[in-house]
Amino acid sequence: MKRVLVLPGDGIGPEIVAEAVKVIQCLRERHGLELVLEEALVGGAAYDATGQPLPAETLERARAADAVLLGAVGGRKWEGLDISVRPEKGLLGLREGLQLFANLRPAILYPQLADASSLRPEVVAGLDIMIVRELTGGIYFGQPRGVRTGADGRREGFNTLVYDETEIRRIGRVAFGIARARNGRLCSVDKANVLECTELWREVMTELAAEYPDVELSHMYVDNAAMQLVRSPKQFDVVVTTNLFGDILSDEAAMLTGSIGMLPSASLDADGKGMYEPIHGSAPDIAGQGVANPLATILSVAMMLRYSLGEEALARRIETAVGEVLDQGLRTPDIAAADSRVVGTREMGDAVVAALS
Ligand code: NAD
Repeated sequence: MKRVLVLPGDGIGPEIVAEAVKVIQCLRERHGLELVLEEALVGGAAYDATGQPLPAETLERARAADAVLLGAVGGRKWEGLDISVRPEKGLLGLREGLQLFANLRPAILYPQLADASSLRPEVVAGLDIMIVRELTGGIYFGQPRGVRTGADGRREGFNTLVYDETEIRRIGRVAFGIARARNGRLCSVDKANVLECTELWREVMTELAAEYPDVELSHMYVDNAAMQLVRSPKQFDVVVTTNLFGDILSDEAAMLTGSIGMLPSASLDADGKGMYEPIHGSAPDIAGQGVANPLATILSVAMMLRYSLGEEALARRIETAVGEVLDQGLRTPDIAAADSRVVGTREMGDAVVAALS
């Protein structure tokens, strides 16, 4: 039996995760999903209970599980802590400890929410992009790094952008696989005209393309990609890029949809085990008020079913149910328009469960 570890975390984390768990329970009771759910502490909640944002027991149980569902971590309460025990360290520790090198960030704009974007509806309506970001390498991890003071007393900050071909091939295979399962189009984003490291990136992606004749590979420089994303975002289907470029472009793409509370994400290891979480943070400004949008977390469950649990049909059921709820005009305050029926976190979760039933 598959096991899923649930980590509610901090702020709105427990509120939105509770709704996602309701959805999982509905699938278990009514749609034959077989799954064991466990729960553990992470982030500020774990720090308060144990003095560590990622207790060894949590990491061990995450390693033993088939997938991890995370709410969010962090909050003002823990901002003054030493960086080594801040809640966000819990998240980084999980990514590192589970070797989650592939970050999948869909940017989907449900047609019902086209007005939520700051771009014109005709530019973004129906947008459906998947950004595949390398998550455990590149300039965020390269050595040497630091700030040093030269003989003349001037301080110098430095980081290292480094990828070996194995790392590039590994993330490339994930992206080609996803492109193959979608529309067969993959755009690799780099800065090969300036950075040798991404010149190698481009070479390796091009070599890989020979293994995926059914996928059409294109290349784009990152500055152009940033521009094209706001000019004509629907030209993209699957995008693969480095850790740093992916960090920036995936946030840009998310913002095209205008609704941070709607977007899920997945981080996968080499065997398809993954951690699933909404892209937003713990939203301390609205925590405890019952108004947070749980749909990003519920859609993260759909990604979990698709990428780690081999349950594509159930994943689609959830996505369809979310579409139906939006069709009914139900909106949490973050996505509400003048004529919507504004509901709270729980009502939104209940509505998805009702649509699933
Ligand atoms: P945030 O994403 O938590 O919030 C940004 C804005 O979006 C806020 O106004 C918030 O109310 C709103 N928002 C976010 N999620 C929402 C939802 N589901 N429904 C409705 N509105 C929503 O970002 P922030 O304010 O910069 O960070 C708050 C805390 O979260 C910080 O401690 C930060 O470090 C942490 N954080 C955690 C993660 C994570 O756990 N993966 C990611 C980003 C930030």
